[in-house]
Amino acid sequence: MNSLLLTGGRVIDPANHFDARADVLICQGKIAAVGPEAAAKAPAETERMDVGGQVVCPGLIDLHVHLREPGQVTKETIATGTAAAARGGFTSVVCMPNTSPAIDDAGTVALIHERAATQGVVNVYVAGAITKNLAGEELAPIGSLKQAGVVAITDDGQCVQNNDMMRRALEYAKMFELPVLDHCQDYSLVTDGVMREGYWSTVLGLRGWPAAGEELIVARNILLAETTGARVHCQHISAAGSVRLLREAKKRGLPVSGEACPHHFTLTDAAVAGSEKFFEADGQVVFGLDASREGRPTWPAYDTNFKMNPPLGSARDREAILEGLADGTLEILGSDHAPHCDYEKEVEFDYAPFGITGLETELALSLMQLYHSRRLGLADLIAKFTVAPARLLRLPKGTLSVGAEADLTVFDPDCQWVFEKSASASKASNSPFYGWPLRGKAVATIVGGRQAWVEQGRLAKA
Ligand SMILES: [Zn+2]
Repeated sequence: MNSLLLTGGRVIDPANHFDARADVLICQGKIAAVGPEAAAKAPAETERMDVGGQVVCPGLIDLHVHLREPGQVTKETIATGTAAAARGGFTSVVCMPNTSPAIDDAGTVALIHERAATQGVVNVYVAGAITKNLAGEELAPIGSLKQAGVVAITDDGQCVQNNDMMRRALEYAKMFELPVLDHCQDYSLVTDGVMREGYWSTVLGLRGWPAAGEELIVARNILLAETTGARVHCQHISAAGSVRLLREAKKRGLPVSGEACPHHFTLTDAAVAGSEKFFEADGQVVFGLDASREGRPTWPAYDTNFKMNPPLGSARDREAILEGLADGTLEILGSDHAPHCDYEKEVEFDYAPFGITGLETELALSLMQLYHSRRLGLADLIAKFTVAPARLLRLPKGTLSVGAEADLTVFDPDCQWVFEKSASASKASNSPFYGWPLRGKAVATIVGGRQAWVEQGRLAKA
């Protein structure tokens, strides 16, 4: 397949402030034309795809994904993780370095690049470690990681506790023009907390993870960004105080940014008490006040698919994250796709690992909570999945400019569907969203002009 013409879609390209019904021509893996001239420029034998009624946008980027390779292939692999990404509408993912061994040297980066080239169906970018083995004790060779092609450094899953070491990491990162992505968790405050500290942790008798455990490190990162001038990106923001700190810092022009994950702005800590309690306490925002009980998903209390790090926050935290996304404080959306084996999750809440899968539900949940709730327009929402992460990571992606690599996502913003375990491409099944009625779905994912995934029967070939 050398050329492909997408006809009749609503093309939204936030990088170029373009939003109109237009055709898109892809030739030799690149964007060849957008607009009225696209059809005329199409060579003979161009394949056509009718995308009328659908949105066509730059390929979505998820900068926070755990692909679990090397070393944890019973949870996920590059093949299955990127297949899930394609199904969710993502053409590029950034994989986190908390693998086995950790991605803390050039050889491991090369290994992932090699496997991704042969087994991945979407672009795989690598985040290297900040410290060796993510242990927080000794800096990783940041210069050679950069040379090996990492797009950022992070100890995600862990958090560098020593402030001076973090300062040195930021200085090196600045020198090598790498953003630092930080999982914000103060160990001395969080200790062995398993869910957000508050009313529900008390009711359920589970050890609390206080919001200040995140806010303290967000504040630390802001101060160090100011000290060093390095770019710091705070991952998976879960607390209202963190949003407030970032808003104030961005107002002062500091090089900081924040990311939100759909579970943190859809669910709350009440979900750990089971579906009945969740919908009674905080669930109205998700389905609307008049939503009937019919069709609501159900789950028991202490369901470990509601255990992630950072944990689900209060209704106030959720609201603050939605506000932060609406006013631009939080400029990037990511999944923190964290697959685990069933046997690991099928234990008492205290013993289960943190993390849930997310690649296949994040577009729908984001559309539901941001676009369908009228908090954000489609272009602003798409920007958080495309041009914003591309800018942070300095990727030549996130645009439909003529000449750019033809990474595109076609999605139906109104498609109503239910996420089923059997339809998932991920190796893992630790999602809290099975059985949820969702709205909005990717129907085609095109990577470098190649159809990485197309929903069967959705797109008539013209
Ligand atoms: Zn994390």
